[in-house]
Amino acid sequence: MELRRGYVVDRWVIVAESRGKRPHQFKSDDDIYANDPGPEKCFFCPGNEGMTPQEIGRVDDGKGGWKLRWFPNKFAAVDKKGNPKIDTHDRFFTFADAYGDHEVIVETPDHSKQMYDLDEAELTDLLKVYRGRIDELGNQPNIKYVSVFKNEGKKAGTSIIHSHSQLISLNTVPPRVRHKIEGAKKFPSCPYCDVVKIEAQGDRKVYEDDTFLTFTPYASRFNFEAWIFPKEHKKTFMDFSDDELAVLASHIKRILVKLKELNANFNMVIYYSPKGEDLHFHIEFLPRIATHAGFELETGVIINAVAPEVAAQFYKGEHKE
Ligand SMILES: [Zn+2]
Ligand SMILES: [Zn+2]
Repeated sequence: MELRRGYVVDRWVIVAESRGKRPHQFKSDDDIYANDPGPEKCFFCPGNEGMTPQEIGRVDDGKGGWKLRWFPNKFAAVDKKGNPKIDTHDRFFTFADAYGDHEVIVETPDHSKQMYDLDEAELTDLLKVYRGRIDELGNQPNIKYVSVFKNEGKKAGTSIIHSHSQLISLNTVPPRVRHKIEGAKKFPSCPYCDVVKIEAQGDRKVYEDDTFLTFTPYASRFNFEAWIFPKEHKKTFMDFSDDELAVLASHIKRILVKLKELNANFNMVIYYSPKGEDLHFHIEFLPRIATHAGFELETGVIINAVAPEVAAQFYKGEHKE
């Protein structure tokens, strides 16, 4: 067993492999469709557009329908009302109105598809929508960051089965983003650029091409955690051409195919530089297989039963059953 620290952020993981447990023994038996209302009653299905808040945009399918569509979240965590300025009263009470936009992006008209069923062209379209929404929402007054995330399956927080992503814009740069930026500032140049070079040579590498590297991080907090980084120091989504997003989609697809083999619930989260800051763009896949329990909540130290080196073999299809 080994105690490992994150590359940049001060977080710690105990790699404690369950002896003899093979990757497919982590396969989940969750039935994600257990509470499926079916396409007729689904808010996100074609024909039911009137059941969602007013549409903000869509990608047409060229046949009168849509491939993707996005609209405000009916149960928004933030809204564009009140005072976005953060203030502190009586030393201890720091607050502002939770100011921002909360949007849903329906990723496919097909009720029976999950993100891992989308092909590379569909994933590329989704990435282009992320890029467009971050650009638009991020340029609004008082907005400091636009969080983009995907919850796949019940353990990852999905309540609606129809495949979708979400965006929440915020009047503050969230702490996890800040910690990465502050951690990176302690190095003379971008540490992630160096991490990418080093991990491309090692046994945590999953896949690389000229543009991106997929690898399992040294101090993985989640079973089968995987990160995708551009090899060049790109700061935001806006730095990528359409062709580069298509390559990124191919990396995402490789991860998704393997997560489907495990029937894994997962979160996909995206990190990039807020305005005026410098953070190397990256995407993290966080499979929700094990539960972080008392020890993790108490100490912040996480026990991971899957060594990242084994996870990399699994993603490469090299593990032995
Ligand atoms: Zn549906
Ligand atoms: Zn970099």
